[in-house]
Amino acid sequence: EEVDVAEFCAPIFDAVKLKYPDLNFSYHIDVQNNMVVDTTLLLSVFQNLIDNAYKYSERQRKFLNIDVQQNKKNFVIRFKDQGIGINKKEFNSIFKKFYRVKNQFNQQGSIGLGLAFCKEIVDFMGGEIKVDSVLNQGTTFTLVLPLGPKKN
Ligand code: ATP
Ligand code: MG
Repeated sequence: EEVDVAEFCAPIFDAVKLKYPDLNFSYHIDVQNNMVVDTTLLLSVFQNLIDNAYKYSERQRKFLNIDVQQNKKNFVIRFKDQGIGINKKEFNSIFKKFYRVKNQFNQQGSIGLGLAFCKEIVDFMGGEIKVDSVLNQGTTFTLVLPLGPKKN
C-alpha cells in the first residue's frame, strides 16, 4: 500500500522510546515522496535493525539515530549505532541464515535470522541493505528503497 513515511515511522519510534528507555534515540525524517510497500514486512525490517542496535551495544553506550532521506531515485534510511561494531570480514556473512558473530553479546537466545530476513524482504522490495561498521565504534545499516509517488 501507499504510505506517508513519517506516518509509518511515528508509532514505531514512539514504541522504541517506551521499549528501550535507556536508549539514546533520535531520528530525522526529510522526504517528499510516499512509499509503496508492504508495511508489515518493512516493520519487521525496522524491528530487527532497532533490536540489533540495542542488543549489540554496551550497557552505558546505547545510542541509535535513524535518518530517513531520499535522493532522486530512492529512499535512503540509515540506522546508526555506537555499539560493538562488526569486523569487515563478517559484512557478507551476517546476512546469511543462522550466522552469528562469536562474541560475549551473542549468548542470549537469538538465532541469527534477523538480518537474513531483512535482506530477503528488502531484495523482494527491489531495494538494498548495506552495512558499514568500525569495531568498538559502531555500525550503520542502510536501507535503499524505491520512491513512491510524490506527496500531495
Ligand atoms: P535474531 O535477529 O534472529 O534474534 P541475531 O540478532 O543474532 O538473531 P541477526 O540480526 O541476523 O541475528 O544478526 C547477525 C549477527 O550480526 C548478530 O549475531 C551480531 O553478531 C551481528 N550484528 C547485527 N547487528 C549488529 C549491530 N548493530 N552491531 C554489531 N553487531 C551486529
Ligand atoms: Mg537480530
